[in-house]
Amino acid sequence: MPNITGHTELVGLMAYPIRHSQSPTTHNLAYDKNGDDVIQLAFEVDNDSLEAAVESIRALKMLGSNISMPNKTVVHQYLDEVDDAARLCGAINTVVNTRDENGNVTGYLKGYNTDGMGYWQGIKEEGIDFKGMKLVLIGTGGAATAIAVRGALDGLGSIDIFNIKDKFYPRGEEIVNIINENTDCKAEMHDLADLDLLKEKMHAADIFCDATGVGMHPLEDLSNIPDGSFFKPDLIVTDTVYAPRETVMMKQARDAGVKQVYNGLSMMLFQALIAIELYTGKSTPVDYMKEQLGI
Ligand code: NAD
Repeated sequence: MPNITGHTELVGLMAYPIRHSQSPTTHNLAYDKNGDDVIQLAFEVDNDSLEAAVESIRALKMLGSNISMPNKTVVHQYLDEVDDAARLCGAINTVVNTRDENGNVTGYLKGYNTDGMGYWQGIKEEGIDFKGMKLVLIGTGGAATAIAVRGALDGLGSIDIFNIKDKFYPRGEEIVNIINENTDCKAEMHDLADLDLLKEKMHAADIFCDATGVGMHPLEDLSNIPDGSFFKPDLIVTDTVYAPRETVMMKQARDAGVKQVYNGLSMMLFQALIAIELYTGKSTPVDYMKEQLGI
């Protein structure tokens, strides 16, 4: 339990609904471990109250706030600056109240997206240098978009994105254009119904990521991959889902002999640790956090 005093500084978490969130547990463990007199609190904020809530970051001299749905895609209009990756993927999950040379917050608010950074930090922590690699990505929602844009900015060679032809598909086409126009990475969009092409691309790829909700409740018995023949043993296989810890897709991959199979826990942890570093300037011991959170 932190020792809250008149000096304690505040980080927010603004979303609706939000009471189920793991974020305050993660943040407060880290601030405590780092010796920072900082706490994170969750606030029920929707699009109607967002402008006033963001203004309160300035008025209350908060260090910043995490932002989740339904506010991630609209909060940019209330900020002073948006980081490149967040601007390109159209979503912000971290608002930082920037500091002056004396370390005091200035009220100048800058938005970031640490979801994509978190995913790729998790890959780097496994000792993988992904520069020049070929990614096959299923999904065109918030998580997939952040992973694709950050990976492209940080040197992926190519990205083949597959999605079902639902309301998210056009966003995938937009993201492919944004990546091709703004980075050296070559991106293509495909229909997930084209399973022959999916298999061909997965056999040619270095990394595979499923960034859909398939594999998680209520779709926990399903996989986007028809069978184990889609996996080659040296493919790096990742899922953004972390509950359950092993999705049907991950089990298919392991049964097919894939050695490197990772769930979404590291993405979840590192997106938080990167945000914490943006707020306080301090890096948090990763092993300690994994042990405390049972990761
Ligand atoms: P979203 O709603 O923005 O996107 C959902 C995506 O799933 C879309 O591409 C959609 O077309 C696809 N989809 C939905 N139903 C499908 C089906 N039946 N078959 C195939 N595709 C289907 O969601 P999001 O925020 O991008 O989250 C996606 C997943 O990533 C979720 O499982 C979420 O828990 C996870 N996630 C994990 C982290 C983390 O830190 N590990 C962070 C964000 C999201």
